[in-house]
Amino acid sequence: PREVRLVSRPVGWPEPSDFALADTEPVELADGQVRVRNLVMSVDPYMRGRMSAAKSYAAPYELGEAMTGGAVGEVVESRADAVPVGAHVLHGLGWREEAVVDASAVRVVDTDAAPVSAYLGVLGMTGLTAYAGLTRVAGMKPGDVVFVSGAAGAVGSVVGQVAKALGASRVIGSAGSQEKVDHLVTDLGFDAAFNYKDGKVSDLLREAAPDGIDVYFDNVGGEHLEAAVGSLRLGGRIAVCGMISVYNDTEPAPGPRNLARLIQTRGRIEGFLVGDHGDLADEYAQQAAGWLADGSLTSRETFVDGIDHAVEAFLGVLKGANTGKMLVRL
Ligand code: NDP
Repeated sequence: PREVRLVSRPVGWPEPSDFALADTEPVELADGQVRVRNLVMSVDPYMRGRMSAAKSYAAPYELGEAMTGGAVGEVVESRADAVPVGAHVLHGLGWREEAVVDASAVRVVDTDAAPVSAYLGVLGMTGLTAYAGLTRVAGMKPGDVVFVSGAAGAVGSVVGQVAKALGASRVIGSAGSQEKVDHLVTDLGFDAAFNYKDGKVSDLLREAAPDGIDVYFDNVGGEHLEAAVGSLRLGGRIAVCGMISVYNDTEPAPGPRNLARLIQTRGRIEGFLVGDHGDLADEYAQQAAGWLADGSLTSRETFVDGIDHAVEAFLGVLKGANTGKMLVRL
């Protein structure tokens, strides 16, 4: 089996040469461990941060070692009674075709209830991120006007649909192509959407939300954040989930120039990490099951095939090659 290792720390945009595909030596199982043949693995924007040496909320990847990340696979050998051969499990040792992992560090998933890929997307970490950020951090209420950036991505597409399901009066999304904009309005029920490459984000947002916004779910940062502050209504809330527009910057980007508007609007900006909101997981799983069943929540996935294309898939996420959750089928 093969795995993907980080071999040099990217400065600016990562290059394929920062990674190496390597064969692994066979490993014997210890008591309590399982061997998992990975079926699907996640590539996520946060992984860019872990490729740098700088301390952050997730530890840096070690040079010369396989990277880690979410994956779902099938147990092919087990020395743990609770997790038998044939079980499908969610775990943290992606970026490899085969994982040897403690049974205590896996979660058995129900493949009758949903396809394995869903546990890495709409029913997984990205879905919960959307729900926690929207309901708890931004405190979305029925009647709110909600704006989300990165709206055609994994988190953003759930944010927009959940906002509608929870009674938002108007949901606006931004994305990086006309095709994605059409998908938001036609397939996902957004009230309005725009391609942020078509002009100044502040102009495009004002056009899409002439009366302003109550909630901004930020996946992008930069010009989007300044535009959202500029359109914020009285008591508006901004949940900062991600700032993908700056992840490959080598110099800190300038911040929004209009933060004084927070005074007149009594506005609030708050960052969050999904890991702090695990207590919402059961509530979200129940809600999401209902919304998936009645069609108010649908999920698109973009698949790349083969571990030898995993780096390409990761670079693709940073550049917008995905609609919905980007996944690698192994
Ligand atoms: P996505 O599926 O949204 O993929 C990333 C998308 O970002 C791309 O598809 C691309 O779409 C868009 N993008 C890339 N560069 C830019 C840019 N310069 N300006 C605007 N958009 C850009 O990824 P996820 O749903 O997994 O993650 C979305 C955000 O949420 C990220 O910022 C991530 O770091 C964050 N996150 C935070 C978590 C937390 O706990 N706080 C947990 C999970 C994710 P396009 O074609 O539209 O440009």
